[in-house]
Amino acid sequence: MADPPLVELREVRKSYTIGAPNVAEVLHGLDLRLDAGEFVALIGPSGSGKSTLLNIVGLLERMTAGSYRLQGEPVGALSDEALTLRRRATLGFVFQFHHLLPAFSALENVTLPALMAEGRVSAARREQARGLLAAVGLAAAMDKRPSQLSGGMQQRVAIARALVMQPALVLADEPTGNLDTASSDEVFRELRRIHAERGTAFVVVTHDPRLAARCDRVVELVDGRIARDERVAASGAPA
Ligand code: ADP
Repeated sequence: MADPPLVELREVRKSYTIGAPNVAEVLHGLDLRLDAGEFVALIGPSGSGKSTLLNIVGLLERMTAGSYRLQGEPVGALSDEALTLRRRATLGFVFQFHHLLPAFSALENVTLPALMAEGRVSAARREQARGLLAAVGLAAAMDKRPSQLSGGMQQRVAIARALVMQPALVLADEPTGNLDTASSDEVFRELRRIHAERGTAFVVVTHDPRLAARCDRVVELVDGRIARDERVAASGAPA
């Protein structure tokens, strides 16, 4: 039997209560399917629901209605605890602001998800973290603290951290939104390279049409609905 889709959303709705009795629906019945190993841009105007959608896919927020299967498993009814375990096992996150811990070295920051998921950092995980830092060009910076690194380097540490538990899917919310063009290009190139080498799936929220054009598929949200979902003709494997 074929593998189930990585992510399958059906008729997903999300509402926020904005001071009872006022309820605002921000996602209006989305259907979305992602397959393993896809590289998808999520675009759309500010307030269109991109972060909300990413947070639902990332098991950080619950949908109000609809169904969500992650690797074939319905996750809508899971307890908070089960969601946390599922998130740690399957998903990695990169945010606009890297949220690295300032008192820890780059290497310690990258091994942190292992500490949280497994209660300790095994020698194998530490080796893996070293390998990831080397892979994103930071072999010489492993013992540096975030404040000793440039913005682009900090974001590359955050990418290594997102990958250390070998997630099937990385969710990146404006991962280059805080960087200049050169650093942004460099970080994006890393994402594409990791995708090519490891087959990790990515969903990247971006405002930058240049970056969206370098993804394989573009999903556009407008007012909480999918307005466009298409393959990119000449997408950007590593330059
Ligand atoms: P985007 O990421 O595309 O900018 P968001 O997903 O952040 O959009 O927001 C979509 C809509 O949901 C916006 O109108 C926003 O104000 C609203 N929203 C997001 N989070 C909350 C919340 N916690 N409470 C109330 N409204 C929210």
